[in-house]
Amino acid sequence: MASNPATPQPPAGGQPSTAPAGRRKTTRHRGEGQWAKGHFTPLNANEQTKKDDDGLNVRTRIETIYSKAGFDSIDGADLRGRMRWWGLYTQRRPGIDGGRTAILEPEELDDRYFMMRVRIDGGRLTVAQLRVIGEISQEFARGTADITDRQNVQYHWIRIEDVPEIWRRLESVGLSTTEACGDTPRTVLGSPVAGIAEDEIIDGTPAIDEIKARYIGSKEFSNLPRKFKTAISGSPLLDVVHEINDVSFVGVEHPEHGPGFDLWVGGALSTNPRLGERLGAWVPLDEVPDVWAGVVGIFRDYGYRRLRHRARLKFLMADWGPEKFRQVLQDEYLKRELVDGPAPQMPTQVWRDHIGVHRQKDGRFYVGFAPRVGRIDGTTLTKIAALAEGHGSERVRTTTDQKMLVLDVEESRVESLVSGLESLDLQVRPSPFRRGTMACTGIEFCKLAIVETKARGASLIDELERRLPEFDEPIAININGCPNSCARIQTADIGLKGQLVTDADGQQTEGFQVHLGGSLGMEPGFGRKVRGLKVTSAELPDYVERVLTRFQAERTDGERFAQ
Ligand code: SF4
Repeated sequence: MASNPATPQPPAGGQPSTAPAGRRKTTRHRGEGQWAKGHFTPLNANEQTKKDDDGLNVRTRIETIYSKAGFDSIDGADLRGRMRWWGLYTQRRPGIDGGRTAILEPEELDDRYFMMRVRIDGGRLTVAQLRVIGEISQEFARGTADITDRQNVQYHWIRIEDVPEIWRRLESVGLSTTEACGDTPRTVLGSPVAGIAEDEIIDGTPAIDEIKARYIGSKEFSNLPRKFKTAISGSPLLDVVHEINDVSFVGVEHPEHGPGFDLWVGGALSTNPRLGERLGAWVPLDEVPDVWAGVVGIFRDYGYRRLRHRARLKFLMADWGPEKFRQVLQDEYLKRELVDGPAPQMPTQVWRDHIGVHRQKDGRFYVGFAPRVGRIDGTTLTKIAALAEGHGSERVRTTTDQKMLVLDVEESRVESLVSGLESLDLQVRPSPFRRGTMACTGIEFCKLAIVETKARGASLIDELERRLPEFDEPIAININGCPNSCARIQTADIGLKGQLVTDADGQQTEGFQVHLGGSLGMEPGFGRKVRGLKVTSAELPDYVERVLTRFQAERTDGERFAQ
């Protein structure tokens, strides 16, 4: 086990009364709320809730009390806190406009239904699992099933009474909602083409499986300062947005030791975006789980718990820097030196989503396709499962761009599969707009949202396809429903942050603050907020059309939008 045995680790439901000698610091000020510095007294309501009872313990109450006695029996701290440890959030009550988001109390925004997130580590699914996901959607979620940009599936309209049966069905095929939300290690991102891509440097799948088996659902890491995001990929396309995860393992070829992973720490977006930094360390595949646990251990013990908005790992990393972080990881958690290693090569292509038809290293093919902004439905998911199976495939994947893949298709059956997918409006050769547009959940279901996103994104795609049929540049248009960054607006060519804006008549209406020129991959950087540039939702297609038309007219040879 990589976590520091000397580190104070409060048991579930309470912190220890004493800290180990040498670590304890008698503070006269409140500090940042780091356990490793002796700050065990909860300094905000979230920390108090976690101290009172471990989030994982709420499952028993859901199964034995809440699902039987109904919504009104749910304890408030469980409803708005611990249920997240099992992938459950209350969804937004219908009919509340974005202007009231910030002024209403949380309970006034709560619907009596839940969003449920199904954890899909590495984006890997069998067709049997996909079929069960689709069936649950139809039976319990009014047909909803969105593909998220962290490779998960999200349902809406879930009743508390149905949760145990949904868990039973998911778990019968090896899926779960364990720690899909909450202050926990969230779903581990993985390359959708792990193990099959011709150009793969290394397959990270065994490390993802080991992390999941050892640590997900374990109380060792079930009380972190906030959420913790992981990405592992050995694809040279750098296909898991490693720059903006708390920890990332990126495939590299070490000149002496061979294939392994370059270690990145401290990336995250939201309101204070920060790119992850390399620690300059090379990690072989079998050591990834221990090193991962060491990094999570540092976050648990040294992470800032006093202020919720400073509780992500990026703030600790900003204060420590990569040299100190690596030193603490080696000295206190791993008890050994890490091997120095090279940086990853930058990818040679812009799209990192695996859309289209591609040959696998075993000679078969994978087929990547694009729904609009990740929105699918249960019926379509079961049809995808049937189509894949009917074409000899037993495996599908989700991507970090809200897209999907069918794997292992013989060449002779590829075009038939492509036709079948396109008959479901799942484009294998999509326009750049459909391929490059993402949208978060937005006001339809999210309690923090100010504006509509999914429907807005889908209609924007349709409009741009109609108005700019010749446009064929890679373009990323990301749409958020509030100042958070669930759809990664800062890393898009055109990032749209939902807020209320003033229209031509002086009325407050739904709209967006525009960010331009963000990018990951070849030239990572955050988009510039264009001062004063806000568009109403109604003006959005006109605005994006103008920006793209001007770019096409004025660009120099080979220039990308982000440049
Ligand atoms: Fe909700 Fe805001 Fe995240 Fe969109 S960006 S899902 S509106 S919290």
